[in-house]
Amino acid sequence: MTDRQRARYEELGENLEVVERRIADACAAAGRERSEVTLIVVTKTYPAEDSALLAGLGVTDVAENRDQDAAPKADLCVDLPLTWHFVGQLQTNKVRSVLRYADTVHSVDRDRLVESLSAAVVRDGRAPLGCLVQVALDKEHGEGGHRAGVAPEDVLALADKIAGAPGLRLDGVMTVAPLAGPLAGDPAASFARLMEIASAVRAVHPAATMVSAGMSGDLEQAIAAGATHVRIGTAVLGVRSPLR
Ligand SMILES: *Cc1c(COP(=O)(O)O)cnc(C)c1O
Repeated sequence: MTDRQRARYEELGENLEVVERRIADACAAAGRERSEVTLIVVTKTYPAEDSALLAGLGVTDVAENRDQDAAPKADLCVDLPLTWHFVGQLQTNKVRSVLRYADTVHSVDRDRLVESLSAAVVRDGRAPLGCLVQVALDKEHGEGGHRAGVAPEDVLALADKIAGAPGLRLDGVMTVAPLAGPLAGDPAASFARLMEIASAVRAVHPAATMVSAGMSGDLEQAIAAGATHVRIGTAVLGVRSPLR
């Protein structure tokens, strides 16, 4: 390692310790086991070198939101013991590329994407793809909505569609706390609403147990509500450049 790499390794290690402490404290406060929550580090905009350092620090799960950045990064990291999650808007023309590295797509938001993912998994003969329905909590009751995702009332239909699609596995639901609508600025209420939706999905699809919620600013509220996977970028890697 160069001095610069060593310094970055130490910085990431310290940041991970802080995040790990926050997760452990939030689990303890909620009466949950630490093992009930998986940390996914969102590496978007950061170089493959950071992903390698994170793997060296024991991180097992990373997430990306743009295939253009993620595909070359995943190629460079192919020998590392990392599980890749895709969490961004996914165009159908990027599906085949994403399927080369992603184990789970958190951002399934429309029928056409389900059909495209299913066809590609079957065609490539790869292992089943885990899918989460992205819920747009600000689209409740016909409101406009700024976030990607499906309105709460449409979640079950999309979940059914995934569950019935060859090559896809319905793993659960995902959300980003809304910036608009009545739940804006209230992550606790937002994640409580997500848990109601997750329960409704689980009532029909018992294996769909994943609840992907909570980012650097609201992981405590997400864990309190019952999140099983938190997606943390800034708190581990630092503030992203506004140019990206
Ligand atoms: C960037 C991103 C995150 C991480 O956000 P931070 O605030 O940096 O922790 C989580 N989820 C999604 C979908 C993202 O795009």
